[in-house]
Amino acid sequence: MKHLLDYLPKLKDWVVKKEQPEFRARQIRKWICENRVFDFAQMTDLPQAFRTQLTKHFHVVSTQIVKHQMSADGTEKLLLQLSDGGVIECVLLRDGIRRTICVSSQVGCAMGCVFCASGLDGLMRNLTAGEIIEQMLLLQQLLPHDERLSHIVMMGMGEPLANLDNVIRALDFASSPDGLGISARRITISTVGLPAAIVRLARQNCRYNLAISLHAPNDKLRTQIVPVNEKIGIDQIMSAADLFFDMTGRRLTFEYVLLAGINDELQHANELGKLLSKRNALLNVIPYNPVEGLSFQTPSAKSVRLFRESLERNHITVKFRQRKGNQINAACGQLRRDQPQLVQLPETATSETISK
Ligand code: SAH
Repeated sequence: MKHLLDYLPKLKDWVVKKEQPEFRARQIRKWICENRVFDFAQMTDLPQAFRTQLTKHFHVVSTQIVKHQMSADGTEKLLLQLSDGGVIECVLLRDGIRRTICVSSQVGCAMGCVFCASGLDGLMRNLTAGEIIEQMLLLQQLLPHDERLSHIVMMGMGEPLANLDNVIRALDFASSPDGLGISARRITISTVGLPAAIVRLARQNCRYNLAISLHAPNDKLRTQIVPVNEKIGIDQIMSAADLFFDMTGRRLTFEYVLLAGINDELQHANELGKLLSKRNALLNVIPYNPVEGLSFQTPSAKSVRLFRESLERNHITVKFRQRKGNQINAACGQLRRDQPQLVQLPETATSETISK
């Protein structure tokens, strides 16, 4: 059995080999992407015998939903078990008319950022392009038929630039009119800051937005919070980011998780101001979302305000991201850690509603 979503580029050839007209490939894509139907038997405009052939060769969904959580603010989170037992998470966020999904790129993560739940057990493996697309399709299925996904952020579990080929394949599908038709301008890849991969994206004239998780304004502090920084350094990241901006013309986003008493002091805001003020950049400040077992604290409202005012004095374009879905552990990797016993697949998915 093959994963159809990994096989999409070759589907036309396969269809022709089965002595069907080429347009069958388009029909199948339409069923999956537009009608949100994953069962070949229900693809009623395909010949019966061809549907049977498809069922024998392919599956569209290779994961099992082991948990489906809903938060009162409209956030929904899926915990998915992959065919080899690995577990990943993905999230649907509702904000006004926006329907944003947050998608994982790896099972676990090798980057080891000290405040993040995703990397606590290290990296298991990269996701295939099909497994990344599958998350998008399963989240799209949570929407009523008259609603469409509007934005994608690669901010789930894993480091997207460490699995760049598969991430780009999946995003190219998401942004294609034959796929999910989501404008590339509404798709963001978030990275810990791997310069070689950023340079590669810049040279390829990347159509997607780039967000860089900075989290500290100097190397000493950043290496404490983001250990991979030791071998990279902020200078290299900034040079790669500047090249990305020069080549693509796309405004950069920098992310900064505020950790009380660690990176939230005025001196940090001033240093950050100096680093970013000459750049066409948006700073996205995220209050720390507490992770069980980690002792970091979310800063007080007062220190957040002082931090913000200092950045504004430096004329930095800054956005303070609201916490969404924290009732359901929606920060990456958190839900998965609630399920250490997940080895055997339950027969049916559990669905939980959490009210305020
Ligand atoms: N590896 C990518 C994607 C990680 S998730 C990256 O580093 O950008 C997206 C963002 O969420 C990152 O900025 C990450 O640092 C942040 N994040 C992770 N855990 C968090 C937590 N507990 N609270 C707030 N933000 C968190």
